[in-house]
Amino acid sequence: MAVKEPQVTLKRVSHWIGGRLVEGRSGRSGVVWNPATGQPQATVDFASVEEVDAAVAVAREAYKTWRQTPLSRRAEIMFKFRDLVDQNRRKIAELITLEHGKTLADALGEVARGLENVEFATGIPHLLKGGFSEQASRGVDVYQIRQPLGVVAGITPFNFPAMVPMWMFANAIACGNTFILKPSEKDPSPSLFLAELLQQAGLPDGVFNVVQGDKVAVDRILEHPEIKAVSFVGSTPVARYIYETGTKHGKRVQALGGAKNHMVVLPDADIGMAADAAVSAAYGSAGERCMAISVVVAVGDQTADALIAAIKERMPRIKVGPGLEEGVEMGPLITREHRDKVASYIENAPKEGASVVVDGRQDPIAQSEGFFLGPSLIDHARPGMKCYDDEIFGPVLSVVRVKTYDEALKLINEHPYGNGTAIFTRDGGAARQFQFEVEAGMVGINVPIPVPVAYYSFGGWKASLFGDLHMYGPEGVQFYTRAKVVTSRWPDPSTSKVDLGFPQVR
Ligand code: NAD
Repeated sequence: MAVKEPQVTLKRVSHWIGGRLVEGRSGRSGVVWNPATGQPQATVDFASVEEVDAAVAVAREAYKTWRQTPLSRRAEIMFKFRDLVDQNRRKIAELITLEHGKTLADALGEVARGLENVEFATGIPHLLKGGFSEQASRGVDVYQIRQPLGVVAGITPFNFPAMVPMWMFANAIACGNTFILKPSEKDPSPSLFLAELLQQAGLPDGVFNVVQGDKVAVDRILEHPEIKAVSFVGSTPVARYIYETGTKHGKRVQALGGAKNHMVVLPDADIGMAADAAVSAAYGSAGERCMAISVVVAVGDQTADALIAAIKERMPRIKVGPGLEEGVEMGPLITREHRDKVASYIENAPKEGASVVVDGRQDPIAQSEGFFLGPSLIDHARPGMKCYDDEIFGPVLSVVRVKTYDEALKLINEHPYGNGTAIFTRDGGAARQFQFEVEAGMVGINVPIPVPVAYYSFGGWKASLFGDLHMYGPEGVQFYTRAKVVTSRWPDPSTSKVDLGFPQVR
């Protein structure tokens, strides 16, 4: 007689439409893994075209009243939501760690940085103030107002399942839009909890909706005539596709892509400080951050040798393990396939002429069931090698040796990505020169991960962003609103006459 395998019922992650959980009916779903154990822990429903349409219809209906909701009430809801996120930091962080794998401390940091965007959005009455010009012509006043767009959508990546949605929806909703979120199918649960908190904060049903899914849902979002704008964060090939397809369908699109962030270390830099920064920024969150440092550009062989020795010395002290375990500093990668892809770059590096100084595949944890890989260090990387050219998105740091500052700058400016970059030096003049000349959207001076605070905006250059406006902050408010200029006069009817000339102001 055949022995039956025990049936484990996995948690089911569904959609959030019109203020309640809605189970998917498409018959399609994906697996949500626990990266720390390598086991499946949930299934996630994948929305069909009809299910996306249903969410858009609800959002469109909600827009009619939400748009008219006074600014003071919108701000009040954002303040309440801010408090609820604050009170639930740990719960949100645990949800992130369970599905993403990053450490709890890192997940708490993600929640904190997401919360900044909610705090920014509480100031919406001030942010939406327009301009007024009295007496632009005789008896004529001109003023500009900013109005919401309607139903807008956000498509988000796996690496920040709470923060990146907050980058988008906090401003979008505060501006008076209604929102459809399509989270990453790899870690879909935090978005549902945020939806619950928004409801508890008093947000009317239908203003914020979550459709889970894959390309089917994304494509419907891109084509749906009622969706007026799409914010995207993810890899560059998909970002380019989102931008091209969304704009072809008449939408406003901002699509943030991948990165290869260089950190220049000048010979005068404090080597210990630069090594601390490189190790933290390269291996934090297992390198799965779009602002991770993945290349160190050492100016001069002496700098390179000293820096590599200092980095190498620090690497064995990094505690790799399950993100929920006390004291762990680096968790697993998101999936087995991704771990293997990252490992393939280490495998190939010597064949391309680079040298592997520390091989994360040799770390005993790389043999466990979870999707682990130890931190790796590659020396003598160069353009033309895959380990240098590609975004690896894992705990692999490459070192490029150059002779001069000019060579370092050229390297960065010729790389297709231009998200973040950093320079480590004690020379203020050199740092200012770098800030002036470098082609990247976010620059750190002795700061390895220069993610802008929420009252500036986030965005890269070149293949790291498609679109005109950066995300969150003042440019976020601009993205989610359109300007209307009103020219008004209240003339005395007795002065009225027909005049076919072009209106003049003097
Ligand atoms: P991804 O591009 O694979 O997925 C992002 C989103 O697009 C997900 O919701 C996914 O379901 C959807 N998607 C994936 N393939 C698609 C397709 N073919 N058609 C339509 N939709 C598709 O990215 P990811 O692996 O989730 O995230 C990692 C990437 O995101 C890295 O490249 C990283 O640099 C980038 N990222 C960039 C920033 C930034 O601000 N520039 C921030 C975070 C992450």
